[in-house]
Amino acid sequence: MADVLTYVLHYEGAFNKNSLGAVSEGAARAAEIGGECHAVVVGGDDLTDELCQTLGSYGAKKVFRGQGPEGLAQPVVDVMAKVIDDGGHGYALFGGGLLGFEIGAGLAARLGAGVAMEVTAVRAENGELIAERPILGDSSISEISYRSEVGIVIGRLNAFEIRESGAGAAPVEQLSFELSPHAGQATMVMRGEQRGADVDIEGASIIVAGGRGLGKAEGFQLCEELAQAFGNKAAVAATRAVVDAGWYPYAAQIGQTGKTVSPKLYLAAGISGAIQHKVGMQSSENIVAINKDSNAPIFEFSDLGIVGDLNKILPKLTEAVKAKKAD
Ligand SMILES: Cc1cc2nc3c(=O)[nH]c(=O)nc-3n(C[C@H](O)[C@H](O)[C@H](O)COP(=O)(O)OP(=O)(O)OC[C@H]3O[C@@H](n4cnc5c(N)ncnc54)[C@H](O)[C@@H]3O)c2cc1C
Repeated sequence: MADVLTYVLHYEGAFNKNSLGAVSEGAARAAEIGGECHAVVVGGDDLTDELCQTLGSYGAKKVFRGQGPEGLAQPVVDVMAKVIDDGGHGYALFGGGLLGFEIGAGLAARLGAGVAMEVTAVRAENGELIAERPILGDSSISEISYRSEVGIVIGRLNAFEIRESGAGAAPVEQLSFELSPHAGQATMVMRGEQRGADVDIEGASIIVAGGRGLGKAEGFQLCEELAQAFGNKAAVAATRAVVDAGWYPYAAQIGQTGKTVSPKLYLAAGISGAIQHKVGMQSSENIVAINKDSNAPIFEFSDLGIVGDLNKILPKLTEAVKAKKAD
């Protein structure tokens, strides 16, 4: 079956952008293999038919709306398994992120389906979908095809571009489904903003960015102290590697699948300078890089390169900035 089912995360009257990318991708690929993209949304009273219909403009041909708790994986697995059982969808596609991974893995286990994770592109070939997934530190791409009845594709966070198709409202079908006994075992205790999520990185004139060279999440304190010394025009940013590791919030990610910035000063600490990072910061007026490896690619496009240990250099810079300000 050529139809593709996607899950769209809904929270407080809005859809998650990463999920909208999955709808666009599902719609484009389903069309190539002669199918349609359908979306599943689960939510409470603030999830209205009117809101669900808007998914039509991202390419969804039909929306299944389930009444249930938002942001929990197992109820969504129940809903999607039912929709696939009834509709015979050939693929389930997720935008990634923690919830996408959890639902996709749960659905794969439930359906005995093949699953590809961290997918960065999907293409159609001979009426089937092939998932492309970077391997070996992103130096090669593996191509995954499916032998199972249902193929599950879980994208990397924000790997799929949001495309508004201009199509009209999608029909909405209210689903009645039964939660499996274990689906009610987890409850949402609290939702909150991540540290740094409210920082205006795009508007900052000085950015102190940290990468895997910081060693651990706590390493970001060195970047935060330096940014604080610069004052309120400075912000802290991060590479995707550390965002994926959970060291810093996604809102601070610079690069191809994050934000694009062009501050007066971009100070990169412990960042190798991968092309996907470079595209998000290369138009900065001044780029200063600190890296212990003199051959790190970031030095090729830095105005000033400091070869050394950031654990020694960042605190010294912070002291120097504070001293200068006190003058
Ligand atoms: C489709 C796709 C999209 C992507 N999108 C993005 C994106 O938007 N943004 C992004 O950033 N990446 C993105 N990536 C990932 C990118 O390819 C790199 O993997 C990532 O940027 C590497 O992050 P990093 O520089 O923090 O880590 P690494 O590459 O591991 O570099 C760490 C650096 O720290 C240095 N170091 C280690 N210890 C110290 C120390 N004590 N002092 C000084 N230096 C030290 C090392 O020499 C090394 O150069 C994407 C990849 C793909 C495939």
